[in-house]
Amino acid sequence: MFEKLIKLSRKKSPWAFHINTGSCNNCDIEIIAALTPRFDVERFGILLEGSARHADILLVTGFVSKQSVKRLKRVYEQTPEPKLVVAVGACACSGGIFKDSYNMAGPVDKIIPVDVYIGGCPPRPQAIIDGIVAALEKL
Ligand code: SF4
Repeated sequence: MFEKLIKLSRKKSPWAFHINTGSCNNCDIEIIAALTPRFDVERFGILLEGSARHADILLVTGFVSKQSVKRLKRVYEQTPEPKLVVAVGACACSGGIFKDSYNMAGPVDKIIPVDVYIGGCPPRPQAIIDGIVAALEKL
C-alpha cells in the first residue's frame, strides 16, 4: 500500500534535474521556457530540482563531451531509483551537429541508459512536456 502511494506521488509530482553535457544552450533555454508562465509545467506538478539526489527524472541536454562523461555518470549514480532519463534535443539523442567531432564521447545513451528521446534542434517546450509525460508512463 505504502509502495503504491509512493509510486502515485512520483507520477503526480515528478522532480526533474537538468544537466548540460555539452549543449549549445538552446535546448536549456527551451527547458527554462517550459517552466515560464506561458507553459507552466509546475501546474502538472513537474518541478525543476537543484539536486540529482532528490530527482526522479534526469533531463540531459547536449552531445556529451569527453569532459562531461565522469560528471554525467556521477549524477546518474546519485539519482535515486526508480529514475528516468530523458535525452532532450538532437545532440543528446544522436550527437546532432556535433556528431563525429573530436570532443564527442556521446550521445547520451552511449554513457547511461535513456528512457525517452525528444528530438528537435531545439525541441519546443510542448515536446519537452510530452517527453516527460511519456517518461512518466514508464514509472
Ligand atoms: S539539439 Fe540543437 S539546440 Fe539543442 S544543443 Fe544541439 S545544437 Fe543546440
